[in-house]
Amino acid sequence: MSKRSGAEQYDAIVVGGGPSGSSTAFELQRGGARVLVLDRATFPRSKACAEYLSPQASRRLNAMGALTAVESAGAAHLAGMIVRAPNGAALRGDFVASHGYSAFRNRGLALRRTVLDPILLNCARSAGADVREGAQVTDVLRDATGRVTGVRLLPSAGEVELIRAPLVIGADGLRSVIARRLGLARISRIWPRRIALVAHFENFGGMGDWGEMHVERDVGYVGLATVEDGLTNVAMVVPAAAGRAVSADRTAFFERWLRDRPQLAPRVAGARRVTPVLATGPFASHARRAWAPGAALVGDAADFFDPFTGEGIYSALRGGELLGRHALECLGAATAREADASLRAYDRARRAEFRGKWIVEKAINAAVSFAPAINYFARALESRKDMADLLVGVTGDFVPAAEVLRPGYLLNLFLQPTRPPAPGA
Ligand SMILES: Cc1cc2nc3c(=O)[nH]c(=O)nc-3n(C[C@H](O)[C@H](O)[C@H](O)COP(=O)(O)OP(=O)(O)OC[C@H]3O[C@@H](n4cnc5c(N)ncnc54)[C@H](O)[C@@H]3O)c2cc1C
Repeated sequence: MSKRSGAEQYDAIVVGGGPSGSSTAFELQRGGARVLVLDRATFPRSKACAEYLSPQASRRLNAMGALTAVESAGAAHLAGMIVRAPNGAALRGDFVASHGYSAFRNRGLALRRTVLDPILLNCARSAGADVREGAQVTDVLRDATGRVTGVRLLPSAGEVELIRAPLVIGADGLRSVIARRLGLARISRIWPRRIALVAHFENFGGMGDWGEMHVERDVGYVGLATVEDGLTNVAMVVPAAAGRAVSADRTAFFERWLRDRPQLAPRVAGARRVTPVLATGPFASHARRAWAPGAALVGDAADFFDPFTGEGIYSALRGGELLGRHALECLGAATAREADASLRAYDRARRAEFRGKWIVEKAINAAVSFAPAINYFARALESRKDMADLLVGVTGDFVPAAEVLRPGYLLNLFLQPTRPPAPGA
């Protein structure tokens, strides 16, 4: 097997051309760096996702010059979220509310990833980044000190290809090769492991302007959202214990699960599934830290917990923006020590930016995993629309997480008098 090695034609190699890779490449390229994006897929590629973008994600889309394209592609507009608990209690939070916070846009957007991701990748391309699709990275290259100096690609026609650059960015998603090769990937042992199944339907009954989450006792939850006119994304998340039934026949499992929910059965009865059922998981992983000498992680490669609060795309876009700025400093550094300090600063900035959201995300997921808790909180927030709006604003990325972590909010939540459950619930 022969070996081909690229001289340092690029300042940075971004592994992964999803939202985090596109956002990082865009920021770096605009700052004057020469960037190569490598993705093993050929776009448009499908991605198991509920496809909802928080209202604040539009700020980054706008900065990247993608917002008009996303809207012209027919993205649906979402007014807020409805969460239905196993006991039938349903809280509704709106993005436009009286709490005094407003997002860049007052609606969330929803668009198929086969449409969204190529738009984002084209923004990186238009900014000047070189993009190679169908290029799978298998390892990182290191120098004698252990510093990352490039990547190795999956051999093609018997030839191993090595590409070198002073900075390698792992934007390669949930099971990031870069995070694993750097020894930074950690699988969560304390949170329930879950798997997800996603498909699109036409004529799904009763869809309105709100995204919906239906939590079921012990068997997971399903999210419903209109993505483009007449098309509904159905994203189901079930315990990893269902893996065997899913492997046996994921389509049968998915359709049976929906038909078995009394509140969903009539809505799915007249619907037609128009895409194959995609599966992904188990998830709940995070990187010990989001950098190593000569490398950094962003998006799901750095942290992915659970899609319930649906903000991974925002975190990927915002994370890319943050990393881009620190990575430019890293590339301009006079010494290896200074370069490392810039990446360390990125890691700190990421934690400062997302810490509050991580706490809220984990609290919500703990409640979702324990039916009595989600039943109680949904009842409490059903009768306190102001509090539900605030929480949905936090998940929409425009209300600071601190608003719902304040003692006053928590006290009100825990001491909220709740109506008794509906008969038969
Ligand atoms: C079921 C489910 C529902 C979700 N719903 C939502 C939602 O509604 N809203 C939301 O905001 N987020 C949601 N998320 C999360 C969201 O999908 C992710 O957070 C987001 O895609 C992260 O973007 P990324 O660019 O980091 O990774 P990805 O989008 O996964 O992109 C990674 C890219 O890296 C490429 N790649 C991987 N390995 C290699 C390799 N070795 N070499 C080269 N290329 C490689 C892949 O081909 C891919 O294109 C959901 C996730 C799941 C699982």
